[in-house]
Amino acid sequence: MVKVLDIIAQEVGACRKCSLYRTRHNPVAGEGPSNAEIMLVGEAPGSREDLLGRPFVGAAGKVLDVSLRSVGLDRSEVYITNVLKCRPPGNRDPLPTEIERCTLYLNRQIDVIKPRIICPLGNFATSHVLGRYGFKPKSISRIHGRVFMAPGVRVIPMYHPAALIYDRSLGEKNVKDWKAVKDAYAQLPHRGDWLI
Ligand code: URA
Repeated sequence: MVKVLDIIAQEVGACRKCSLYRTRHNPVAGEGPSNAEIMLVGEAPGSREDLLGRPFVGAAGKVLDVSLRSVGLDRSEVYITNVLKCRPPGNRDPLPTEIERCTLYLNRQIDVIKPRIICPLGNFATSHVLGRYGFKPKSISRIHGRVFMAPGVRVIPMYHPAALIYDRSLGEKNVKDWKAVKDAYAQLPHRGDWLI
């Protein structure tokens, strides 16, 4: 299983499906345990992620770490990736063609890891992940923290951590949303449990 994720990462490194490979420093395939029960999906690498080749290691990553810790989770327990694996220049929004081509990798990562909970972070990730499971995408401001039940997985859209930096008023809602993730996680029969 680990191997398939490595192969996907190698393919991401060699990818020329859109023009972002020309401007990136490093691809950011994702990181975390191959058997993670929780998967977080951001939008695209920022400048620090692009330099280090790792997801959420800049300012938004610090906010994400705090959110995770607030519900007793550590980033080492979750798989973290993005809709786009290469940084769009100047952190512009992902283009529809980039999303269409790049989510091939994300979809395969989901298929391999088989997380029990997926938290898309922000509108772009929410739209893709909900669409994948046949839900009609809605604005994150309307559905953050709501649990969408799909076969074998619960999708819980969350505010993007960068949004919390720009709009401090979202902090309280975000705390509640992470509690919803914690509750959903606590209710799951876990892989190590008997009779599953
Ligand atoms: N923002 C994202 O959406 N992803 C990252 O990896 C970093 C910042």
